[in-house]
Amino acid sequence: NHITGIVGVSIVIVMMQSDMNARSALEKDMRQAIARGEYRFHYQPQIDESGRVFSVEALLRWYHPSRGSVSPMEFIPLAEETGLIIPIGEWGLRTACAQLAEWAKSPQTAHLIIAVNVSATQFRQPDFVQEVKSILLLNGAEPSRLKLELTETALADDIDAVVTKMQALKEIGVTWSLDDFGTGYSSLSLLKRLPLDQLKIDKSFVSDLLSDERSVAIINTLVDLSKTLNLTVIAEGVEDEKQLSALKSIGCLSYQGYLFSRPLPISELNDLIMSEHAV
Ligand code: C2E
Ligand code: CA
Ligand code: CA
Ligand code: CA
Repeated sequence: NHITGIVGVSIVIVMMQSDMNARSALEKDMRQAIARGEYRFHYQPQIDESGRVFSVEALLRWYHPSRGSVSPMEFIPLAEETGLIIPIGEWGLRTACAQLAEWAKSPQTAHLIIAVNVSATQFRQPDFVQEVKSILLLNGAEPSRLKLELTETALADDIDAVVTKMQALKEIGVTWSLDDFGTGYSSLSLLKRLPLDQLKIDKSFVSDLLSDERSVAIINTLVDLSKTLNLTVIAEGVEDEKQLSALKSIGCLSYQGYLFSRPLPISELNDLIMSEHAV
């Protein structure tokens, strides 16, 4: 019994060890991925009332030569823990701003907005505002075409500091969207203080929309709230026509989801935008 106990403990230690090795190998690969150009953005269309693409969300993809395509769900949490989210986030802002400058050259794409996900860790950096400003400037990107998506986690800190940062970028035209809305604990009084432009209804409510009366009630409340606060509202994770018509009747008029398009590599997105203009 004593022996099996020791064996058991050793097995657990060996497993923990290999888990740690796997993690540090992943961390090392993540660290090198920027220099090796292994990160890409895919862009998912956001659709307005008229059915047109008015904006896209930039979603990170990691193409590793031997790991293959690694999902952000797998590496963003570790990137947060190790602080690697800082250089990755900076890469993301540069990439998005370079893309905006590229799109500004053509009348068919100049109207497009790019939404970039900003992690709480990244937002917390003291020089975050300055960094966004200088990346915009360096790339010659129009600030009003950049939308930053924050989750409620980022708002948990000192509220005055959060408001000051958001305000500083809003002053130059950058807009703010609150991601995964409804899943966190933001109070109405907190929301009132934030210089937000958009609320993004979490896809969990959209996916339950047809089966769960409570999700309908929650979405109703979120849409009303957005009107009260004078914010636009967008639903994510819209997968079928039934969800779309339910959202419409609730009064949510912007959408993102597989019903319209998956996140696309830049060339496919450009084709999609061009084909919109052809009709
Ligand atoms: P998120 O910001 O909530 O992004 C929405 C996720 O839903 C994306 O997953 C998107 O591909 C997926 N999605 C879009 N339409 C549908 C749909 O109709 N149905 C369903 N079931 N899913 C849909 P993805 O691309 O795997 O990204 C996962 C998460 O990783 C993101 O969630 C975000 O939190 C994080 N992430 C992605 N890119 C970045 C980034 O550049 N920076 C940071 N900090 N986080 C990122
Ligand atoms: Ca997002
Ligand atoms: Ca989301
Ligand atoms: Ca999410």
